[in-house]
Amino acid sequence: MGLNFTHETLGQRLYFGSGKAATNVAEEVARQGASKVMLVSSSLESEIVRVATSLISIALTCDNVAQHVPIENAQAARKAATDTDVDLLISVGGGSTTGLAKAIALTTGIPILAVATTYAGSEATNVWGLTEGTRKTTGSDNKVLPVAVVYDAQLTYSLPVELSISSGMNAIAHSIDSMWAPRADPINQVLATEGIRALASGLPMILKNPSSEKGREHALYGAYLSAASFASAGSGMHHKICHVLGGTYRLPHAQTHAAVLPYVLAFNAPFASEANQRIAYALGASSGLEGLNLLRAALNVPAGLKDLGFEESNIEEASEIIFPLIPESNPRTVSREDLVQLLHAAWAGETPAPNDER
Ligand code: NAD
Repeated sequence: MGLNFTHETLGQRLYFGSGKAATNVAEEVARQGASKVMLVSSSLESEIVRVATSLISIALTCDNVAQHVPIENAQAARKAATDTDVDLLISVGGGSTTGLAKAIALTTGIPILAVATTYAGSEATNVWGLTEGTRKTTGSDNKVLPVAVVYDAQLTYSLPVELSISSGMNAIAHSIDSMWAPRADPINQVLATEGIRALASGLPMILKNPSSEKGREHALYGAYLSAASFASAGSGMHHKICHVLGGTYRLPHAQTHAAVLPYVLAFNAPFASEANQRIAYALGASSGLEGLNLLRAALNVPAGLKDLGFEESNIEEASEIIFPLIPESNPRTVSREDLVQLLHAAWAGETPAPNDER
């Protein structure tokens, strides 16, 4: 790639530190001069929330968190925030929780401090999502980009191992897809390469010991880098596929990314040699796909969309919906038949082999 590009870096303050969530949250609340804080969190994470917010006062709590942010939840939370004159939103949780805070910020402009407890990376993007009935709408707006993010590895010890691994693969997917997304550039690719390396180092430590501070720190660091690269590069072929599978067929977010990623890499890698070299380097393997297959095997990543509730009979329809969404930047031309074959392979979940014949 020639050095001829436009790169946008999104401005945020990051606080990294294990065991420091409470002091870092308090520092940022003071920096913002906030006096009426609204906490957005799921009641499932009450212990994490108690730790992270132990040094500040909360004026209002919203725990109406659900995947893909139903519009009714957003509207009720927006009204509560404006009725109480809230001046700072603090979200504590994964992508669904950050997503609800973003929905409030979108219409009210109230800044967000995000305490991230999974590897989904929503806290590092200006992308919002809302669901009305079965229709999910997404968009980007800098109003929803959290002004500050707090990462504390100790808050993630309770994230179940299987979900940690799927969420980590979701983060690796951000990095891999950034290599060929519409605004891919050399800066995104550096962030993405280091993101993959850090996640591939941290996730095996978490599998061995879910309370490995080092493993959790590496995974959070890698998740941030991956999300920052994704936020700048945009959605590539992989995200377009997963967005349709998650939105139309209600498949679980992180697990769907984990299941689809190797097939997109197998499809694109023969036509993206520089990206393939970067991914291989990050994974310490001779090719990107070999590295990803080895990592997935080491982490026991559950394979196959069929195990996530996706019906084989939906493949034709899904590929019709996905086909017009594939970005022109994709390194390999994609036909509808390619998508059908890719989804069949991802549905069955067999270990993907390099694919350069179609
Ligand atoms: P999630 O937020 O739904 O969390 C998954 C589960 O993990 C939930 O049951 C939650 O209660 C639990 N959990 C979270 N942190 C925990 C912890 N530390 N300990 C124990 N349990 C914990 O899932 P997710 O994968 O983080 O986020 C998925 C959602 O985020 C999707 O709706 C997706 O569209 C969105 N997302 C948005 C962006 C963006 O840029 N806007 C990026 C990535 C994901």
